[in-house]
Amino acid sequence: MSFDSTVEFIKDSFGRPNFIPLHIPNFWGNEKKYLADTIETTFVSSVGAYVNKFEEHIAEYTQTAKCAAVVNGTAALQVGLRVVGVQAHDEVLTQALTFVATTNAIAYNFAKPVFVDVDLDTMGMSPKALANFLNEFGERRGTDCYNKKTGKRIAACVPMHTFGFMCRIDEIVAICNDWNIPVVEDAAEALGSSYKGKPAGSFGEVGAFSFNGNKIMTAGGGGAIVSLNPDFADKAKYLTNTAKVPHKWEYVHDELGYNLRMPNVNAALACAQFEQLENLRQSKKELYEAYQGFFAGTDIKLREMPENSDWNYWLICVELKDRTERDAFLEATNSNGVMTRPIWQLMYRLPMYADCQKDAQTNAEYLEERIVNIPSSARK
Ligand SMILES: *Cc1c(COP(=O)(O)O)cnc(C)c1O
Repeated sequence: MSFDSTVEFIKDSFGRPNFIPLHIPNFWGNEKKYLADTIETTFVSSVGAYVNKFEEHIAEYTQTAKCAAVVNGTAALQVGLRVVGVQAHDEVLTQALTFVATTNAIAYNFAKPVFVDVDLDTMGMSPKALANFLNEFGERRGTDCYNKKTGKRIAACVPMHTFGFMCRIDEIVAICNDWNIPVVEDAAEALGSSYKGKPAGSFGEVGAFSFNGNKIMTAGGGGAIVSLNPDFADKAKYLTNTAKVPHKWEYVHDELGYNLRMPNVNAALACAQFEQLENLRQSKKELYEAYQGFFAGTDIKLREMPENSDWNYWLICVELKDRTERDAFLEATNSNGVMTRPIWQLMYRLPMYADCQKDAQTNAEYLEERIVNIPSSARK
């Protein structure tokens, strides 16, 4: 199969530069102004008005009670897991089809990931697979859930919204509630997406976002923890601020904390980007619609947003027939200045997670062989 017309279409869509990256940030608004302001006021570091303002924006936008801004999305997940009570030697249910940060955040808490399969349409955790796993291996003891096979406590569940497509998060939360397992929602890719009208990040006990340079909006580097429970956000704020107990002058730290706060200089960029979020999303939506028109006339399947959800159009992807076709597509695009990337290798293929318990992974392995991201940047 020839992919020449696809390469040409993508080149035309982006004004035919020599190289088209997968996803770049765009600065269309007050970015320079707010950044200059942090320098003029000297508030570039860990305190400042932009941090507070950004936290308020994100809490309001996600319809949660409170937000704690942190240095990156990985830190948001790491601290989010700790806030809901994950401890050393615990297990955490998640999906193998994810970016490595999801599982690393579990490992940073000295806990072990356990992989349940994803749904084919959402590419996120499958509630059926989750229920099957818990029915086979789950055991309720007091207010906790244990894994009958390993004897370990299952202390949290981390579903992830792949490329901004919402997983069946309401069903996952209902199953986890039934088993007393707190949900940490990895919404790193999903700011601006929603499920049955409710924003990504607002379903779990806590939600985690990333504002890395490749995400829908960026803080340079940044992340956020949100929760409907203000105590969880307060706890996250305190833990990421060295677990410092408020006092006029004394340094009192009453447990092991971290220095993971978002600096004001990053928050300034984030505030300006937040003002552009709808513009960025709209531009990406128009790009997606152009792709819809083009791919309808080809044998390549453009992935569509699953039912009951609204998508932020973060990373657009296609599905190829099999691994051979996928590799031919990757070769044809990348060797012609059009950057494309396969979906991640499944986490249990990585040496650090090779020995983790997992279910059949039929859907994850199907998607791993076929899904490819195509250029998705917003265009002015
Ligand atoms: C980007 C991302 C993260 C981590 O965010 P960083 O800001 O890069 O640390 C976590 N989970 C998923 C699914 C991501 O895509």
